[in-house]
Amino acid sequence: AGPGRAMRAAALAVALAVTAVALAVAAWRRTRPVREVLFFPSRPCCIEGLLAEAAEPGVPARPCPCPLPSGDTALSRLVRRLLSARRSLDLCLFCFSCPQLGRAVQLLHRRGVRVRLVTDAQYMGLHGSQIGRLRHAGIQVRHDQHSGYMHHKFAIVDQRTLITGSLNWTSQAIQSNRENVLVVEDAEYVKAFQDEFERIWEEYNPANYSFF
Ligand SMILES: [Zn+2]
Repeated sequence: AGPGRAMRAAALAVALAVTAVALAVAAWRRTRPVREVLFFPSRPCCIEGLLAEAAEPGVPARPCPCPLPSGDTALSRLVRRLLSARRSLDLCLFCFSCPQLGRAVQLLHRRGVRVRLVTDAQYMGLHGSQIGRLRHAGIQVRHDQHSGYMHHKFAIVDQRTLITGSLNWTSQAIQSNRENVLVVEDAEYVKAFQDEFERIWEEYNPANYSFF
């Protein structure tokens, strides 16, 4: 026994402590709830690879012939979040005309994710709207019957991830406008928005319409 042994013991203790901290940080990173901010306009990007991977996981996607890069952009991040849905996707959108997001939503529907969509009656008939297409694909859509706009722009993935902000789901907004979108996994925020969605969903149930 002597100072050498004490030094070795101290060094070992420090190494163990460092390892424990590193493991704790790694675990915290893994379980840390998502808090992401997306700013638009998004750089132009191709999301064919993302859609193909989501449609047939594990099958290598054929390269897309378009000249756009398939990089990490606000749009690709938004699409990734949507495509992460496994059980449900609740959409509450004033305006939905972006074809790429329309395809992502249809893909989820085909994959068995329960998609519900609430939108604005005055805007759903506009040129380029995705609403008719989504309805045709069998997705449940409900709309307001008021003079005020159904002006929300939020989505809830698996009753767990809230996506909300200023962004209308139009190509024009995605490519040209300054917009912000928050992606959060916060139980309190998610519950408030889920409750709002269920309220609107019930209020816009055609069975509850009043015509006089
Ligand atoms: Zn492409």
